[in-house]
Amino acid sequence: METPEFPTNIFGKYFQSTVYEPSEDTFILLDALEQDLTLIRNLKPLICVEIGCGSGAVITSLAKSIGNDSFYLAVDINPEAIKCTQECLKFNIPSDSNVVQLINTNLNDGIRLKDSVDLLIFNPPYVPTINDEVDKGLIEATWAGGDHGRIVIDRFIKKTLTPMLNSNGLAYLVVIEQNNLSDLILHLEKIGFQCKNVLKRKCGIETLSVLRICRL
Ligand code: SAM
Repeated sequence: METPEFPTNIFGKYFQSTVYEPSEDTFILLDALEQDLTLIRNLKPLICVEIGCGSGAVITSLAKSIGNDSFYLAVDINPEAIKCTQECLKFNIPSDSNVVQLINTNLNDGIRLKDSVDLLIFNPPYVPTINDEVDKGLIEATWAGGDHGRIVIDRFIKKTLTPMLNSNGLAYLVVIEQNNLSDLILHLEKIGFQCKNVLKRKCGIETLSVLRICRL
């Protein structure tokens, strides 16, 4: 069988752990990246960053498909997710598992990459919850998004996307309809970004989308 160009790389012990097990939102993100693979390759990204790497499935697939000429950074607020991503990399890219640098931090705290990220990816905690659920703990960090599921998404836009994405860079953000999608897109346009909903899928009660974002 031919090796797929964008293989799904899963490895981990999610049961009874605080690490997010790859789910429909993970797979729609992988599918959107696979769909845009030529565009991403043509970008020749030097710096690729995934915020909230969780199990490591996404950054591992990306590093395998884009190759060693890029610098990869995977960030998670959960130290267990960082360990899990390390294991996923070791298992799937045994010859070069150090190709991805791992940082346990909140969004981009302590990371200085102003205007320099070519590819930025985030599958955030997007589920609408009461605001107190956000920042409550590591399990909640996988899903709790507060009012309209927008608290962490809005922090990411302000603190990470806006200062870090370079002028030709691309960002991929997973969202659901309840995130006030049209308002979110309008907001991004107002602050100088262009947005395209590149993949939409109904999964049970959620309608998931992947937004591809670039500067206007
Ligand atoms: N990327 C993985 C995937 O697609 O399967 C995990 C996605 S899960 C929905 C959200 C991830 O973001 C979790 O691993 C969580 O720990 C992480 N996360 C949540 N808030 C964060 C923050 N402020 N900074 C860094 N990581 C965060």
